[in-house]
Amino acid sequence: MKRPHIQIGPAGSGGLGNLEGVKKAHELGFDAMEVEFTYGVQISNNDAKAIGKLAKALNILLSVHCPYYVNLASFEPCKIVQSKKRILLSSERAHYLGARYVVFHAGFYQSRSEGETYMMVKKEIKDMLRTIKKKKWDIALAPETTGKKSQFGSLDELLRLAGETGCELCVDFAHILGREGRINYRNVFKKLKNIKHIHAHFSGIEYTKKGERRHLITGTKELKLLLGHVVKSKVDITIINESPDPIGDCLKTKDILNSLCKKSSFRI
Ligand SMILES: [Zn+2]
Repeated sequence: MKRPHIQIGPAGSGGLGNLEGVKKAHELGFDAMEVEFTYGVQISNNDAKAIGKLAKALNILLSVHCPYYVNLASFEPCKIVQSKKRILLSSERAHYLGARYVVFHAGFYQSRSEGETYMMVKKEIKDMLRTIKKKKWDIALAPETTGKKSQFGSLDELLRLAGETGCELCVDFAHILGREGRINYRNVFKKLKNIKHIHAHFSGIEYTKKGERRHLITGTKELKLLLGHVVKSKVDITIINESPDPIGDCLKTKDILNSLCKKSSFRI
């Protein structure tokens, strides 16, 4: 079965566990689901294989979100080692899940300059990519655009990182808004035009001058704005919803998308 160009799915299983979550995503007509290891990698390779098999049968595209406790630019070398272990463990599970994108927040600037932080993150990503290649895990490391100004991960930083290391990226549009205080979708999609498939996150967001404070239910207006640009730019994209109600908001996303596509005669 041919996949749609715009794939929608929730972050996590809504508390159902991954197997039931995949079934639910299928029942509700979604295309994707992100497996959350945000508080630790709690499944085995065998569990991952079983979940991956079901997802493949039901045509649900899986991705993985690594634990939050990651800082590839820490001042403490042992924290960098631990961070890489968490990302690599998530990568191994992703391989058995049949999930391509392994999403993580790469780190914090602390007192370092942006340039210095970039070089540190780049070195560790290259090192992890060597391990992934050696282990033959069929996955893509995808550092995510971050919502706080104290976090490494502007869109420009991540595009440069992808160009220089061979990693990919996860574009969280809500985080770009939180970080920058505004988002110009036309510019964002222009910057992404050479990316074959965009792995993205979306939700509503509350933010201050320092950036993201928390994720919110996704507003209809915000969804229409994003999806309008997605349809217009004809990109190949997966949009994972990370709001406090990802399943409800995916249903809303699908509805809006269907009516937009009817209007523009764009086939998804
Ligand atoms: Zn995100």
